[in-house]
Amino acid sequence: MDFRFTQEVEMLRTMVKGFADKEIRPRIEEMEKEERIPQDIIKKMADLGFFGALIPDEYGGSGMGEVGYCVLIEEIARAYYSASTVIGGHESLACSAILINGTAEQCKKWLPSAASGKIIGSFALTEPNAGSDPSGIETTAVKDGSEWIINGHKIFATNGDIANFVIVFTLTDKDKKSKGGITAFIVEADREGFKATKMHGKMGIRASHTAEIVLEEVRVPESNMLGAIGSGYSLAMKVLNSARIGIAAGCVGIAKEALDLAIKYAMERKQFGQPIIKFQSISNMLAEMAVDIATMEAITYKSAWMCDQKIPYERESAIAKLYASEAVDRVVDKAMQIYGGYGYMADYPIERLYRDARINKIWEGTNEIQKLVITHDLKEKGKY
Ligand SMILES: Cc1cc2nc3c(=O)[nH]c(=O)nc-3n(C[C@H](O)[C@H](O)[C@H](O)COP(=O)(O)OP(=O)(O)OC[C@H]3O[C@@H](n4cnc5c(N)ncnc54)[C@H](O)[C@@H]3O)c2cc1C
Repeated sequence: MDFRFTQEVEMLRTMVKGFADKEIRPRIEEMEKEERIPQDIIKKMADLGFFGALIPDEYGGSGMGEVGYCVLIEEIARAYYSASTVIGGHESLACSAILINGTAEQCKKWLPSAASGKIIGSFALTEPNAGSDPSGIETTAVKDGSEWIINGHKIFATNGDIANFVIVFTLTDKDKKSKGGITAFIVEADREGFKATKMHGKMGIRASHTAEIVLEEVRVPESNMLGAIGSGYSLAMKVLNSARIGIAAGCVGIAKEALDLAIKYAMERKQFGQPIIKFQSISNMLAEMAVDIATMEAITYKSAWMCDQKIPYERESAIAKLYASEAVDRVVDKAMQIYGGYGYMADYPIERLYRDARINKIWEGTNEIQKLVITHDLKEKGKY
């Protein structure tokens, strides 16, 4: 067993951290206010190869694998979680779908531009009436000669409003639904009848691009079908299984930031004539935060490593997402407690970390759904 990151991954961490400190942190206020990640920041991240970490080098990516990708997400999330969601929606959702089900032609056509960040992707599975249960999607794709006509309504698509291409999940056989009735298509955002509108009013990750997508008589060629007809449901499950590891990595980043801020504050803030870190209840909170971080880090990178080694990791990624999203909530909550009244104020970063962390129990499958994934695996094996 070797728990060390490779030298290459350590160098990546240093580079990403340097970039985030210089280019992202100074502009957090602007991004929170404008509820968007500016194009110049997206371009700089693209130029550094951040959009191609999961894409193999044969398609123009850096092929760093899941461990490298998680380090990238962790460090960007540590600085500003919203910025990491542009990378997550693009790479671990949209590009992964192409990598998993794409033909060689589709991979060659889409992935090199995606790896360089020239084009940005989004993944549209969720609909107003179908969230935890994607077998209930109502968006349809109907064959018309050599084309497919798509009609439907998607919501909560990360990157939807800035995407050049969207992986759209459709119903192609309403009798079969999840058992061979769902099919995915790559849909270019400039196709006639495609309309994405940014959704506002999120509690946290305010600068993350979340969109509603309406598809009205959108025609796509047969060559845009991703995988065989009816393979969409299993594709969505496979994509989400690996994407959950990246969510856990984002939680690690937010939690480390909260702990570092809390340590500093507890050493500086004085009450009763001494720094509050000297009170045992405060130092206990710091210790508990460290325990949570060490645990979430261990399961996150274990599942990332398993993914890279091609060892089945479905249960581990669900555990990582579930544990990390609950642990990060505990960590930011304690950080706010240590900051006292100041932590509750928007002028201090803890307030934002507290709001940003909360999404992780909801997206990429709620935590209730993660428990179903974990017990499904336990039942299948009949043991731990
Ligand atoms: C900011 C944001 C970004 C997102 N990005 C994307 C994206 O890029 N692409 C995309 O496709 N989707 C995206 N989503 C959607 C997200 O994945 C869904 O919101 C999530 O899967 C839950 O679906 P829902 O909101 O419809 O809740 P529901 O499914 O209606 O769930 C409501 C409650 O019921 C519980 N529940 C449901 N079924 C069960 C069950 N069988 N057992 C126990 N409890 C259950 C849930 O856990 C939850 O507590 C995003 C959402 C948000 C908020």
